This record gives sequence, structure tokens and C-alpha cells, in this order.
Amino acid sequence: MPIAKVEPLLTTRNISGPFDYRLPEAMSHVEVGSVLLVPFGRRRVVGVVVGLADRSDLPDARLAEPLEALEAGVPPELVELGRWVGEEYCSTPARGLGLVLPPGVGTGAEARRVRPLVELEVEATEKGLQSISGGGRLGLRQRAVLRALAAGPKLARQLAATAGSDRATLRRLEARGLVSSREVERRRRHRSPGVGAVRDGVKLTGDQRAALDAVVAALPEGREESGAPSFLLHGVTGSGKTEVYLEAARAALERGRGAIVLVPEIALTPQTMDRFRRRFGESVALLHSRMPAGVRYDEWRRVRSGEARICVGPRSAVFAPVADPGVIVIDEEHDSSYKQESDPRYDAREVARRRAADSGAVLLCGTATPRPESWHELERLELPSRVDGRALPPVEVVDMRGGIPGLLHPRTREAFREVARTGGKAILLINRRGWSTHLTCRSCGHAWECPHCDVSLVLHRDGGLRCHHCGHAEPKPDACPECVSVTIARVGSGTQRVEAELLEMLAPLEVFRLDSDSAAGGDHGELLRRFEAADSGILVGTQMVAKGHDFPDVTLSVILDADGALRLPDFRSEERTFALITQLAGRSGRGEAGGRVLVQALATGAPSIRHAARHDASGFLADELERRRALRYPPFSHLIEVALAGEDEARVERAAETVRELVADRLSGDDELLGPAPLFRLRGKHRRRLLLKSERRRDAVAAVRDAVATAVRDRALRELAISVDVDPQ
Ligand code: ADP
Ligand code: ZN
Ligand code: ZN
Repeated sequence: MPIAKVEPLLTTRNISGPFDYRLPEAMSHVEVGSVLLVPFGRRRVVGVVVGLADRSDLPDARLAEPLEALEAGVPPELVELGRWVGEEYCSTPARGLGLVLPPGVGTGAEARRVRPLVELEVEATEKGLQSISGGGRLGLRQRAVLRALAAGPKLARQLAATAGSDRATLRRLEARGLVSSREVERRRRHRSPGVGAVRDGVKLTGDQRAALDAVVAALPEGREESGAPSFLLHGVTGSGKTEVYLEAARAALERGRGAIVLVPEIALTPQTMDRFRRRFGESVALLHSRMPAGVRYDEWRRVRSGEARICVGPRSAVFAPVADPGVIVIDEEHDSSYKQESDPRYDAREVARRRAADSGAVLLCGTATPRPESWHELERLELPSRVDGRALPPVEVVDMRGGIPGLLHPRTREAFREVARTGGKAILLINRRGWSTHLTCRSCGHAWECPHCDVSLVLHRDGGLRCHHCGHAEPKPDACPECVSVTIARVGSGTQRVEAELLEMLAPLEVFRLDSDSAAGGDHGELLRRFEAADSGILVGTQMVAKGHDFPDVTLSVILDADGALRLPDFRSEERTFALITQLAGRSGRGEAGGRVLVQALATGAPSIRHAARHDASGFLADELERRRALRYPPFSHLIEVALAGEDEARVERAAETVRELVADRLSGDDELLGPAPLFRLRGKHRRRLLLKSERRRDAVAAVRDAVATAVRDRALRELAISVDVDPQ
């Protein structure tokens, strides 16, 4: 009796599969990767087949049969990859497998299920065609249908629209043998217009050619030859990296292999997608969480069936069912969206590395601002100059110390006025949304904080105060609740206030604001298209404005409070600051008129700012790697963070101590375990955090995984949320 070993997709950490199910005759097609609906206790749950066997250790009477097999299964290598993610990120096999499922499967019994879209296609038979002229007994509608079909088969839906036929008409015609019908599958499509300039059919520059040659030379003919190298394609914005990705994908196709192209999770992906589609047509599929479920499902199946050999998408596309990928591209590899911030907290860059190694694919990571990890570990390919031959725009650091009144330095104001005078375009980046960052009472110093989180409420232009962590909203106060004073100061500023100030200063010049408030509907693309189409204007926004698009006529880029991140206690602050300034600089001066960049900051001497001002990535990375080495931060160690959260602070503290002891028991050598340290209260939950620094990744991951597994079985720790973050960002 064939047995399927099924991992039920339950979210709890307490159940460890796989479980045996007996396969009836009708399910003989079930294989590793098949997705089944199975009885589990009193429930029906979705599960993935992770193995097959001839017999079970359980007595036959205790084995249940699956209820149903879904028609689309997962390739076996993705089953392995999903299980690996569950382990590597201290999650569970079920949650890891949840990542590789076809879209729209869902995991509960009540799961919303997406199915192929089938439609009825109708065709006239010989007899049917003859009956039109033969003057047989035909109703008016029947005759109209047959006439319409004389030109060839049509969908029932089209016949209804053109010949006024209903189902009954068709059934009667079919019963008389005048038409035949069959079900056909129709592909759902999602067409989104691209943003930015696209050029096609280019001849590669010498640098591009050299980079491509290195990639192609490393590309194995098939997965048997494993050990393909990983490359870092380092090139400034506009140096032609995307062209290299396109040609690398082509090379993979020419060898009969596939390609996966990962792009950052932002609304600007259509640009890259469009370029791939123009080059490869229907061989490209896009997988993206913002597309309608039906479209996504159909795209997934096009990839699964091999009809589409290239898949482009954000981090989750690393799990696309591309058979035998020869190249895996990670565009803008520094982008933080490659890290998933909910369990399983996987890093798509690491998963891509693993998948590339397993399938003998070349990994190609591209960026203008490499992560220190990639700089240190990957083989480097350089595209040192822009394709158009233009120099990078000069970057000027504007010192805001010494009580500059207002948001903008006089020099910055002058630069904007110049843009307004000449009718040009500019971009301004300020990494905070809202109007002002917080309110304080001038008389007693009272600060308005979120009642659920230990953070300041942000004032918005509509007059409301909002928590940017939990969404709590309250009206703007008229007086201080502590001392009834009515003098309330607004401190700090965000995108909305900058927008207002620019409007006032530069009217009638148009100002476009891009942040998560301005595009609540999610359509950043629309706003960017309007900015692109306008003759002149200013684009104001959060870091989104520095990402991925190409506006040739922007001549001025400004960043406010560029060193804001440096004031946060985070070892990646320098790296982030460097990347932000460099990426923004890359948006400027891409056209005839050239451009300039102004960086407003207090800490003007910080290494990230100094190096960014000179466009000196290698200098910055050399310094940064030295600092990381001295402090034993990645890539010279691995970090694992354990966070505990709960309503009762004392219990959270005790639980954190317990987990600490469990982990500490397993440490050795130079491992460092820090904490428990408090994190700010979030959504009413008190939090504690432990941080493990280790050079032995596997052991460290195993130690934490086991400690957490023990902890979740402890009754005293129930109701606490424990989360693990391997390689926290
Ligand atoms: P990156 O991805 O590094 O920002 P792109 O590949 O988008 O750079 O190239 C920037 C612009 O230059 C694009 O409009 C692209 O079509 C064009 N381009 C790229 N390579 C060439 C080339 N070899 N010759 C002419 N134009 C090119
Ligand atoms: Zn007060
Ligand atoms: Zn809150």
C-alpha cells in the first residue's frame, strides 16, 4: 500500500510532521510536492507531500486517506528549499513549505482556493454548417449562432454577446449534433504600464561585455555541474546593469535553462518587467503579491509548466517554480525588502544563494551600493561609468549646524529657486512622513505618545496625530492634558510639511508627494508617471524616491537630515546612509542638463557622508569592513535575534531569562550572547530581546532553534510570542 508522508501546513510550533497517509488507487499520481487536502484530527488541512514510502510503521487501521489532491503541485527541489528555510530561519517546516505553494492555495480547510479559469468554447459540426444553407428547422437564435460559428470556434461568452444565445440554445444545438463544445483554459493577464525611459536593442559597452562574458563563462550547461560562482555586479546607477541581466538571462535560455530575476518590493518593478517582456515576450512571467489572485495563479502555472522560462518578481519569486534555473539575478541587492519581516524571516538573498548552489546556477547580484557582506564574499564585476558617458553629479554637503532657521538651508532654497526659474525638475528626499515628528507642551514638556507603543505620535496635515507603528489615531490636542497650557510646539518635520513649504516658496511650480500616505491605494506608479510626464516640478518623498526609476530631466536632488539614521543604535546605519545618498545621487543629472546633489546634515564628517560625497564606494566599504571586523559584526559573524513579547512585563522578563539560559548552555568559544534588553513597547506588548553573535552559523542556529522549541513547550511561557530573526536587518 503506497504511503504519502505529508507535512500539514499548520502554523503552530507544537506539531512536528510529517504524518503518514494511505494513498488510494485514484491518487496514484501523487508525488513529492503534491498538495493534498487531508483529515487531521477533526480538521481538514492542506498538506504537502514530502516523501513517499511503500509501507508505514503505523498499523493500517490508523492510517487515513487524503481527501483530495490539488491539481498543481510543487517541484520536489522546492519542497527541499522550503523545508530548509523552515530550519535555517528557526521557523517550522510547515511555515517554510507555505512559501513554495502555488498562489491562492491557502492553508486552512476554509482556504480560498484559486482555480484555473475555464470557459466553454463552441464549434459548429459539419452537419451544423450544412444546416445553415440546407434550410433545416432552425430557430432564429439557433441560426444566428451557427452563422457566427461559420467563421470558426467561439467562446460561449462571445456568442452570448453577439448572437444572443443562452446556455439552453447551445444545449439544444449540441443535442441535435449541430455544434460541439469543450472547456478551454483562459489565461488571466495583468498589464501595467511601465514608468521611466526604456531603450531597446543596444550594443553592449566594453565593460558590460566583460561582465557578461564572465557570467556566461561560469554558466554550466546543466545542473549536474554544480559549483557555479556568485558575482557582485557593482555599477553606478545608469551603468547598464539591467542590460547585463537581460543578456545573462538570454544566455541561460540558450543553454536550455531558466532564469529568476529578483527585484525590490516596491511599486517600481514594472520598469524592469517591461524591459524583460520586450526582450523575451511570453517567456517572461511576473509573480507579485499586488496582482489579482487569478492572474498570479496563472502566471505561476505558466512557470511551472515551462511555458515561461524567466520569472521576475520581488523576494517571494525566489521560490518560483522555474525548472533548472541557470541564472538567478538579484537587482539592487542592498535593498532591505529582500528580508521578510514576518515568520519565516528569510533573507531572499541567502535563499537565492542556496538555490543557485543546489541547481548549479550563477548568482548575479547587482547594485551601486553593495552590502559589506557581498563586497567581502562575492567575485566582483565592475561597471565603473555611466552608459551615457556623463560624470556623476557633484555632491555638496550642506552643514546644518549653528541654528539654521527652517527646514532648508539658504543654499538649498537658492537651488530650488533656480529649478523653478528654469522650469526644471528636482527630487527631495526626507525619510519621515507626516507633518511634524512630534508635539511637546512648551510649558511643562509633556510629550504626546501612543497609548499602545512607547513612541511619539506624528502630526499629520489633516490635523490628526498618528502612531506610525500601530496605526493608532487621535485628534490634534488644543491644550496640554497635564497643565492645560495652549502653547504646543511642533518639533521635527516630515514629507507633508516639506511639501507645503515648497509649494509656498516655488508656486506655481507643481509638487508631487510620494510616501505611504500619498499612495494609500498603493499606486505609486501613477504618481511617478505624472511626475515623468510633467514639464517641471518637484518630487518630494521618503526613501521610495531614491529607488529604481530613471528620470533623465531631473537636475537637482536634495536630501534632508541625511544623517538621521546615524543617530539610531544600529550597526547598519552607516551602510544605509551611504546607500541612500548614493542612490539619490544616481537619480540626478542623467540628462543633457547635468545635475547636482545637496546633502543637508549635522554630522557632516561621518564616514558614510564623506565617502558618498566623493562617490567612493570602495573606500567606504574598505573602512566599513574594518569597523565590522573590529566589532565582530557580519560578515565576520552571524547574528541571531530572539524577541519575546507579551502583556505582562514581569513574565516577559522571566521568559527572556529562561530562553537566555537555554541558549547559553549550548554556546562555546567566542560566541557572545547579549541581553535580555528591553525593546520599546509595541501594540500594548512589552518586549525583550536577546542577541547572539557567533562565527559558527549552523551550531548557533541549532542552539536557538532547540531553545525556542523547548520554551514553547513550557506551560509557563504560553501566551508569549517568541520570534527568531536570523541575520536581522
Ligand atoms: P542600471 O541598471 O545600471 O541602472 P540600465 O541597464 O538601466 O542601468 O541602463 C541605463 C540606461 O542606458 C537605460 O536606458 C538603458 O537602456 C541604456 N543602456 C544600457 N546599456 C546600453 C548600451 N550598451 N548602449 C546604449 N544604451 C544602453
Ligand atoms: Zn503641559
Ligand atoms: Zn502605537
